[in-house]
Amino acid sequence: MSVGFCPECDSDINFMNEAQMGQKVTCSTCGAYLKVIGLSPIELDWVYDIDEDYYDEDEEFDD
Ligand SMILES: [Zn+2]
Repeated sequence: MSVGFCPECDSDINFMNEAQMGQKVTCSTCGAYLKVIGLSPIELDWVYDIDEDYYDEDEEFDD
């Protein structure tokens, strides 16, 4: 099982299976809608555009 941390409230977020890039998760503590942006370690960030599933996320964004 993989574990990430909510950027909103720092709660543990458990993944039943291996986390995957772009995977959407909801924090069970604060309800934040998040997605996986890194895998080792697992990093989560807020999902700003709920409709982004309509687009392929192949773009890389500069930090
Ligand atoms: Zn949270």
